[in-house]
Amino acid sequence: MIIRQQIIPSYKRPKYTVDGKKVSFAMVPEYITIHETANTGNGANAQAHANLQFNGNSRQASWHIQVDDLQAIQSLPFDEAGIHAGDGTYGNGNRKSIGVEICVNADGDFEKALDNASAVVGQLMKQFDIPSHKVVPHKHWSGKNCPANLLKGRWEEFINLCSVERRQLDDVVSTQTEKEDDKMYKPTSKALKDLTEDLLSDMTDETKHGKQALNKDWLNQFKQGTLSESNAIGLLFAAAKRGLFK
Ligand SMILES: [Zn+2]
Repeated sequence: MIIRQQIIPSYKRPKYTVDGKKVSFAMVPEYITIHETANTGNGANAQAHANLQFNGNSRQASWHIQVDDLQAIQSLPFDEAGIHAGDGTYGNGNRKSIGVEICVNADGDFEKALDNASAVVGQLMKQFDIPSHKVVPHKHWSGKNCPANLLKGRWEEFINLCSVERRQLDDVVSTQTEKEDDKMYKPTSKALKDLTEDLLSDMTDETKHGKQALNKDWLNQFKQGTLSESNAIGLLFAAAKRGLFK
């Protein structure tokens, strides 16, 4: 899921008030707080909420991401605290959590919005190493009945979706790692390529080495560029053991 950025200009971001001064706080995210916008009006989608924030929200409120059935838009940098959890200037909800608003506009598909939200949360869990028990409803911080639809018996289902998304990202990485582990042996210099091919031709030559010869398939794999580095090394071990280097 691509998170599109429409970051609120710094001077338009709602600020905390400390000792009569307007301030913003740096943040290292430890939690993710889930909200619903509670705005069921037609058109009250992610873009509308991103615009509301971007243009300078008159309410003393800000959150990092809004997501609907079509897209996810980021409004605040993740290293800056928003004002969304209702637990005050020093609460962990405001000061240590990424705020994610799920849109409930009547002209949107709420189920699809939940899917998209879980994808976004899964990505954030991975990016900031946040475990599922630190993905919490707004209610956790302030008692407010938010996210209202999810809290009607669907919270656990949602968290499970997020965890699945989180795990799938690990699967992608490990698949890539496996592919990297299995890099093909493709010498970049012509001389080395020719030497390798000569040697493999020799080592797979049954008329010369009889039963000790390596299987011709290895030579073919090398010619086709599908011989892996691990197998190339294995062949050298086999050849040494079988006394083919003569
Ligand atoms: Zn909320």
